[in-house]
Amino acid sequence: MAFAQIIVKLTAHAADSIYTYRVPEGMNVPVGSMVRVPFGKGDRMLDGFVLGLSETADGSIGRIKQIASVSGREPVFTGRELGMAEWMSRRYDAPLSSCLALFVPRDPDKTTQVRVYARFLRDPLPADRAGSGQKSFLSVLAEHPDWSLSLLMKASGAARSSVRSLENKGIIECFEESDETPAPLVMQKATDPGKELNAEQRQAADRIIRAFREGQNSKFLLYGITGSGKTEVYMSCMEQVLAAGKGAYLLVPEISLTPQLVERLGRRFGDRIAVLHSRLNDTERSREWLRIRRGAAKVVVGPRSALFAPMPDPGLIILDEEHESSYKSEITPRYHAREVAEEMAARGGFPLVLGSATPSCESYYQAMEGQAELLRLSRRAVQDAVLPAIRLIDMRREMAAGNMTGFSGELIAALKDRLARNEQSILFLNRRGYSSFVSCRKCGFVLRCPACFLPYTYHKEQNLLICHHCGRAVQPVNTCPSCGSRYLRMSGMGTERIAEDLAGLFPDARILRMDASTTSGKNGFQEAYEQIRDHKADIIVGTQMIAKGMDMPLVTLVGVISADMSLYYPDFHSTERTFQLLTQVAGRAGRGDRPGEVLIQTYEPKHYVLQSVAAHDDAEFYRQELASRQMLACPPFAHFLQILLTGREEDKVRQAAGDLAGILQRESETAESGEAVVLGPSPAELGRIDNIFRWKLLVRHPEEEPLIRMAGVCLEEFRQKYRDVAAAADLNPVNMY
Ligand code: ADP
Ligand code: ZN
Ligand code: ZN
Repeated sequence: MAFAQIIVKLTAHAADSIYTYRVPEGMNVPVGSMVRVPFGKGDRMLDGFVLGLSETADGSIGRIKQIASVSGREPVFTGRELGMAEWMSRRYDAPLSSCLALFVPRDPDKTTQVRVYARFLRDPLPADRAGSGQKSFLSVLAEHPDWSLSLLMKASGAARSSVRSLENKGIIECFEESDETPAPLVMQKATDPGKELNAEQRQAADRIIRAFREGQNSKFLLYGITGSGKTEVYMSCMEQVLAAGKGAYLLVPEISLTPQLVERLGRRFGDRIAVLHSRLNDTERSREWLRIRRGAAKVVVGPRSALFAPMPDPGLIILDEEHESSYKSEITPRYHAREVAEEMAARGGFPLVLGSATPSCESYYQAMEGQAELLRLSRRAVQDAVLPAIRLIDMRREMAAGNMTGFSGELIAALKDRLARNEQSILFLNRRGYSSFVSCRKCGFVLRCPACFLPYTYHKEQNLLICHHCGRAVQPVNTCPSCGSRYLRMSGMGTERIAEDLAGLFPDARILRMDASTTSGKNGFQEAYEQIRDHKADIIVGTQMIAKGMDMPLVTLVGVISADMSLYYPDFHSTERTFQLLTQVAGRAGRGDRPGEVLIQTYEPKHYVLQSVAAHDDAEFYRQELASRQMLACPPFAHFLQILLTGREEDKVRQAAGDLAGILQRESETAESGEAVVLGPSPAELGRIDNIFRWKLLVRHPEEEPLIRMAGVCLEEFRQKYRDVAAAADLNPVNMY
């Protein structure tokens, strides 16, 4: 008789449970298989992963349940992947099942794609009165009888109704066919051999490839301004890794996974590429997963989760825009893709490349200390465009001069000037919505979400007050709920408000708003981009999404409405983020043949972040930032572990937080833990979200490993004691709660 040890996938937070199940006669379930098993009293069917097999089982055999079915056509993880999942489980204090789940498609059975095709039956007669859509459909069909219906419709521009009427008249017939072997999602042929690398690019690529050939687990920081040709270096390296029979991962932040980038990679690698993005459905995902596992796709491109694609033989991992906080998962397991990539590269003995125009302080510091090898690209690849002139505008002076609007005189004049010259301008603001909050002028009452106690944000287009934390939306009120006064006002400025004020100032200008609300549709971002490219907009008002990856040759002015908003956010990362953001936004100006100008409005023009941005002096920023991090014992000079405690009863959460602080304190005094400092407990910045109370604790330690060990010990003790207060650990958090 055969038995299997199965880890059952419960909720992400439940502790791991490994159970023994009986393997039915004739069922083949090697280690690494995903199975369906009956669980608990009601025999609820759950997914499970086979971790081991045995001939015998402990306990009474009669009570052992049987595996119901196997999912997918083959095992879903290998020993190597199990090893990575175990490493993550310990490091990030997360159940093993939740780590394993990352490596596995949601539904491995969904791999068969049913497609609809069309077949030509007879020529249309004059009496059929076929319209132009129908005619063009028929001519495309005649040329490509093997295309799917959706492709035919796309190519001919025919509507579904045209197809239906052709079918009704008996001119064509539609039929379904299922296709079992996953076809690539990218249908392109590799036609582009790539650019001839310039000297700097060549040097960088050679260095990376040498490490690859020699099997060195080196870490590289490819530090080069936007447009310096980093992507071209990545592609050249990937090409050589593929030629040696290995595979490569290229990770990008989701926001830069634009159609332009995918197309560019498609031209270079054709269908050897697998693109994993969040818009894939379960079937597409499972099919790409299979193609990767079988070695048909050797280049995996995607956001942080693409790292878990089952590449049989990887030889290189590249993280583009390595400083981006979207590489950190904010749900269990709270991993950082950079850390996971490092571990994968170390285990596999191959190089890791971190690319950025504005590296994280951690990576910059490692390069300074020789823990990463620095590769510099110092100028733009195409035309060595002059750097834009960056000027800081002191808003205190504007206010003293009686200007109470959000626009300085200088910014208005510069906008006017661009309109007159028929050039484009960008106004950048780090907040969406119409205003930040609604308050009463008489009594000062602020309208807040009752569950999170955070001010509502007014969204004018929908005419709703929306809580940006839990998403609750309510109708705006006309009178103050506290004193009944009718004088409610909107405070602060959002993109919507700025766009409206601008329309008042420049009635003839075409103003385009670009933020998460206006680009939320499937093609929203692409459409906005085309509007800019085709010069259908004069002034673009947007949030950080306009700072990323788009080429906008007609933009010669970039205005930053307020640099201070993100500078003073209560998180030690805020200075670094502001630096990165401003540098990127400034990079939007003057990429064509016209020089650009950048105006940054601020109440704090002497701040080192603003000074170094204005002087294009990155090195000075890193010097000051690292000095201040060292003084404050922040990363990279120390490691943080943030623990968030949540529960429905405020008193209990507070008490549990105090208790956990005590446990950590006690442990920190042991020899093994050494030098740990426990900070807190304190209510989280957002003390309450959707009626769940939140307290936090911070533990600081100069070294990572003792911190992880200590957290493991203390949290286990805590969880034994408290069942209704959850504790979630976050190593090296990118957001302070
Ligand atoms: P980055 O990734 O650093 O922003 P890209 O690799 O996207 O830079 O390059 C920016 C532009 O310069 C692209 O249009 C690219 O095709 C072009 N480019 C890059 N390297 C070269 C080269 N060696 N010769 C000619 N053009 C290049
Ligand atoms: Zn009031
Ligand atoms: Zn809320």
